[in-house]
Amino acid sequence: MMKKKYVYFFNEGNAKMKELLGGKGANLAEMTNIGLPVPPGFTVTTEACIRYYKDDQKIADEIINEIFEALGRLEKITGKKFGDPSNPLLVSVRSGARVSMPGMMDTILNLGLNDETVEGLAKLTKNERFAYDSYRRFIYMFGDVVMQIDKNKFEDILDEIKEKRDAKYDTDLTAEDLKEVVLKFKQLYKQEKGEEFPQDPKYQLLEAIKAVFRSWNNPRAVVYRKLNDIPSDWGTAVNIQMMVFGNMGETSGTGVAFTRNPATGENKIFGEFLVNAQGEDVVAGIRTPHSIEKLKELMPKAYAEFEKAMRLLERHYKDMQDVEFTIEKGKFYLLQTRNGKRTAQAALRIAVDLVNEGLITKEEAMLKVDAKQLDQLLHPMFDQDELKLVKPIAHGLPASPGAACGKVYFTAEDAKKAAQRGEKVVLVRVETSPEDIEGMVVAEGILTTRGGMTSHAAVVARGMGKCCVVGCGDIKVNEKDRYFLVGELKINEGDYISIDGSTGNVYAQRIKTVEPEMTGYFEIFMKWADEIRKLEVRANADTPKDADQAVKLGAEGIGLCRTEHMFFDEDRISLVREMIVAKNSEQRKRALDNLLPMQKQDFIGIYEAMKGRPVTIRLLDPPLHEFLPYEDKDIKVVAENMGITFEELKATVEALKEFNPMLGHRGCRLAITYPEIAKMQTRAIIEAAIEVKQKTGWDIIPEIMIPLVGELKELKYIKDIIVKTANEIIEREGVKIEYKVGTMIEVPRAALTADEIAKEAEFFSFGTNDLTQMTFGFSRDDAGKFLNDYYEKKILEFDPFAKLDINGVGKLIKMAVELGKATRSDLKLGICGEHGGDPASIEFCHNVGLDYVSCSPYRVPIARLAAAQAQVKNPRK
Ligand code: ADP
Ligand code: MG
Ligand code: MG
Repeated sequence: MMKKKYVYFFNEGNAKMKELLGGKGANLAEMTNIGLPVPPGFTVTTEACIRYYKDDQKIADEIINEIFEALGRLEKITGKKFGDPSNPLLVSVRSGARVSMPGMMDTILNLGLNDETVEGLAKLTKNERFAYDSYRRFIYMFGDVVMQIDKNKFEDILDEIKEKRDAKYDTDLTAEDLKEVVLKFKQLYKQEKGEEFPQDPKYQLLEAIKAVFRSWNNPRAVVYRKLNDIPSDWGTAVNIQMMVFGNMGETSGTGVAFTRNPATGENKIFGEFLVNAQGEDVVAGIRTPHSIEKLKELMPKAYAEFEKAMRLLERHYKDMQDVEFTIEKGKFYLLQTRNGKRTAQAALRIAVDLVNEGLITKEEAMLKVDAKQLDQLLHPMFDQDELKLVKPIAHGLPASPGAACGKVYFTAEDAKKAAQRGEKVVLVRVETSPEDIEGMVVAEGILTTRGGMTSHAAVVARGMGKCCVVGCGDIKVNEKDRYFLVGELKINEGDYISIDGSTGNVYAQRIKTVEPEMTGYFEIFMKWADEIRKLEVRANADTPKDADQAVKLGAEGIGLCRTEHMFFDEDRISLVREMIVAKNSEQRKRALDNLLPMQKQDFIGIYEAMKGRPVTIRLLDPPLHEFLPYEDKDIKVVAENMGITFEELKATVEALKEFNPMLGHRGCRLAITYPEIAKMQTRAIIEAAIEVKQKTGWDIIPEIMIPLVGELKELKYIKDIIVKTANEIIEREGVKIEYKVGTMIEVPRAALTADEIAKEAEFFSFGTNDLTQMTFGFSRDDAGKFLNDYYEKKILEFDPFAKLDINGVGKLIKMAVELGKATRSDLKLGICGEHGGDPASIEFCHNVGLDYVSCSPYRVPIARLAAAQAQVKNPRK
């Protein structure tokens, strides 16, 4: 058997090897191979991480051997030696999963330093300050990441010494000061761990690698993975790379940059950097960074190299890149590149521009925009008129666009609690760190006082599509006492503020928000998506208003119109109740006759809003008791209105109660007991279609859908009623009108017998909410209570009600499609559950050959793009 290879030198990999080398490692390899200046190093694979967990959190000997072999090779290449005081090799140990998870896992810099090598480094570089600056950083990171010593304890020591020396920034500390920091850090380490800070570089290295493996499962990484649909069994790779130093003085520095503007998409390099700094300093907001233009002034030669590399990278990857670089004594190095995270606006502009620049095709452009991200553009913005009347109290950097209005909270914990109480929240912090992620998730928007456009808050908020303003130095936050000040003005926890992520403005009041406009790049891009996709996109809409909105967002029809929603209106509910408590079909018919004109009016409104586009109308579905009053006092009022006794109504309510209503008397079962209901609804549907056709000339072809069918004869019984009723009307009116009768596939038995069902059904619409519920046997209303345990124990990775369970429910769908088509080759197929708006589920629908997906109106653009992406990935005729 060939021995598995767990370690790859950068020149042995390439960008396609992300699964094995992680995104960071694969791109370091790619950049090395295209001749860019990357410090040499090697990658320990994700398979080594998976193996580490399999081996009870131990690194196997064969892997350790491979690591040290590679280290030997690195020593040769660099001419330095690990642990050698006369010329020490220092490395970084960097995490890197298949997809980037910014700030979620850990990295350690300057590894290889100890009490001897630090002296050697000082002598060699003739820069004692630099050597001890590197050492104190290493002890801090090793203590924090590997040994889980509370970061704040290191920060406190640093602050204390800074204060004593009257130093504003860490760069104001001298070599002597830093030596003192190192001494105190080591004391802290000993105090916390009961042993000296480890001096053996090889021990340091293996411990650091293990810590990176462990960081794959730290709580914030776990939360991030769930939010982003990243499976837990991928593991992380570890990159071990020779250090280059941005902290060697005034001709050194470190920075991050994007090849285009990540907020607007403008084709102009955008970045920030700091002189005499290392690693995360820029992102962590330790000092306020310079904009990238300043680099051109300060270090023109390095800037020229930087600019050339940026252009090359973008042409090479055919996408906007997010780059980390370091300049060591004037020499430029690249440390990372990845496809940059961007706002939805920027994503659209970049995709369209790249096509127009001839770098990519329209098809490739489809894959450059995250479909879910379009959601950002569909959210409200501030009402411009109201905005004119208010004055901002402060101004920060516009890090992630959108408008947010809510009550101020100062910690992630408080924000979460408030959100659970149903409050809208704006999270205000000095700066955010990965620990804040859950607070950021629940917030409408995020405001920080420190940090730049590439700070943690900015990057994460853009990824989430959340409004965010950073670096707002005008406000002084007191997190402890829960207030912030702007000059004299004091804003307390719970007060309302509004923030504008497009301008950076902060307002001390609530501001009305309005619908966004979808023009410009959005329009161009979505037109391309419509040209490419094969799946039709419809919307689930119950009212003319929703239907209208759906058409504006690009819906090509209604895939699900739920008639029961019309029954809850105030002026109708009493008629509905009359129908329910009716003693005989005579009484029931009377109530229904009164409902008919109203129901007809509903359909007229919907047909008119859809202007001739197809409309699928589902017959009454919910258990009847949902329409009845529950409390005695309500029963009393209703009974009075209906002219019956309290006891009588109470008895009816009791009689209609079910132990398990979702599996009870609902769906087609209602029409089997009460055919009059199906008759009335059919009349309303057909008469409305005739009326609209006569008025407008549009050819309305209603699609009448029977819910919850599990047996052909159920369908046949109701279909006969519909056909008889419809044909009578059509004959009577003498208007030619077509209609279709079909069914939902939401009971597993319907999927299993789809060949039979298709004999009567002209279309199938997969009702994947119920189908998921009945396939798993999970009640949708109760599953929330225990599904978290399933996620925690890794029994399920995702909520099957949000993302289609392809292995189980998907198998039923696939089977029903095949069986149905075998009986009726022109069977029309669609999906109308929640999943119809989920990109991964849409891809599945495309692949199994459905004709359309139907989702809520606001998800229509997402579905249009997801359908185009599915076509690009797996073209179908
Ligand atoms: P993250 O994934 O959180 O960005 P990284 O592994 O990229 O973590 O490293 C954190 C910081 O350290 C980055 O700014 C990176 O550029 C810097 N860094 C990593 N390795 C080196 C190195 N070999 N030399 C200099 N700086 C490095
Ligand atoms: Mg990085
Ligand atoms: Mg259903």
